[in-house]
Amino acid sequence: MPTSSASDIRRAVAVIGGGFYGCMLAVHLRESGAEVVLLEKHDDLLMRASLVNQARVHNGYHYPRSLITGLRSRVNFPRFVEEFRACIDSAFDKIYAVAANHSHVTARHFVNFCTRIGAPLRPVPSHIRELFDPQHVEAVYAVEEYAFDAVRLRREMWRRLRAAGVEVRLGAEVTRIGREAGRLRLEVRSPEGATEQVVEQAFNCTYSQINPLLVRSGIAPIPLKHEVTEMALVEMPGELAGIGVTVMCGPFFSCMPYPSRGLHSFSHVRYTPHTSWRDSGREVLDAHEFLARGSWKTRFPLMVRDAARYLPALADCRQVDSIWEVKTVLPASERDDGRPILLEHDVGLPGLTCVLAAKIDNVFDMLDAVPVDRIQPHRRAA
Ligand SMILES: Cc1cc2nc3c(=O)[nH]c(=O)nc-3n(C[C@H](O)[C@H](O)[C@H](O)COP(=O)(O)OP(=O)(O)OC[C@H]3O[C@@H](n4cnc5c(N)ncnc54)[C@H](O)[C@@H]3O)c2cc1C
Repeated sequence: MPTSSASDIRRAVAVIGGGFYGCMLAVHLRESGAEVVLLEKHDDLLMRASLVNQARVHNGYHYPRSLITGLRSRVNFPRFVEEFRACIDSAFDKIYAVAANHSHVTARHFVNFCTRIGAPLRPVPSHIRELFDPQHVEAVYAVEEYAFDAVRLRREMWRRLRAAGVEVRLGAEVTRIGREAGRLRLEVRSPEGATEQVVEQAFNCTYSQINPLLVRSGIAPIPLKHEVTEMALVEMPGELAGIGVTVMCGPFFSCMPYPSRGLHSFSHVRYTPHTSWRDSGREVLDAHEFLARGSWKTRFPLMVRDAARYLPALADCRQVDSIWEVKTVLPASERDDGRPILLEHDVGLPGLTCVLAAKIDNVFDMLDAVPVDRIQPHRRAA
């Protein structure tokens, strides 16, 4: 499709944001009969939160304080693994440990929770149990939890988008959305200059950028919380190379394979978030710009020093890199760490839907909730 400044009124639906959610939604809408254009400001798909995350395919264990998120993870896990088998790393032992002190849950609570959501817990072999300091760790379980490879997911998204016939515009940043003659008019900044896209419906799937786009369009922001996050990428010492570990549930840490780099990610509940803010009023921070302009200093030494108290062998892991992204959540998530998806229709303008993703693996909750009958019939220019 030409990217001239002329309005193109043949496009029925625009999806703004080529992360995992935008890609999956674009394919879903196209397969539901809409004519779809996907607009992404970067030069490739899945360059932001869908790449820079912990790569955990959740199976419920992580949410002992939110039964509903635990249960939805249990439902989505087999579906995700089945559908994206070629993007999954399951060749490691995944361990959940419960901290002895300062934890929001005890081992008994954790076992009860896993029983309620039907998530299997197995005893760990003694050579793994002995890796943990019993003074700091109450219990250790082997679980079924995997990691995904975001670069393979990106390839898979390209394959699906092409097969479905979605038009993808890279380097295309939507700067404003307005309404004109019953349609939505998207102003787009791209290497070719300013263009526009006129559609009947648009989906704002820009994650940490949802509100800057709304506010630039004269629409009140949605209450959201943002955190600048650091995850270290590390080489594990030999005895930990084939395992992933999460210590529950509070100011502890996770260390698990990050398949797209062949390393482990290392995150710590206390040190991974460097700063946070909430959107309110008409002034909102542009999260991408804020992250890019800040001079952030790694906190890996703090992460590893604390984590080695629980798992002493971690003291020998070697930091190779750190990856940084803004994590955006609903303020309600702070209460119970739950991860519901936000899906709000007609936000400020009829036909504009906002989607805030929560986790990669619960994308199906979003797809199942986008009613196909909301997609207007395709209309051609007179
Ligand atoms: C530190 C961290 C750890 C996480 N760990 C996990 C985990 O282990 N497992 C899990 O399932 N989930 C995890 N998540 C959550 C998960 O990464 C997100 O829920 C998911 O990636 C969001 O997908 P998305 O497509 O909505 O967002 P993104 O992947 O960020 O995509 C949004 C896209 O919109 C584009 N964009 C923004 N503004 C515009 C504009 N104006 N015009 C055009 N394009 C625009 C961006 O460039 C970007 O490509 C984690 C997140 C973070 C940050």
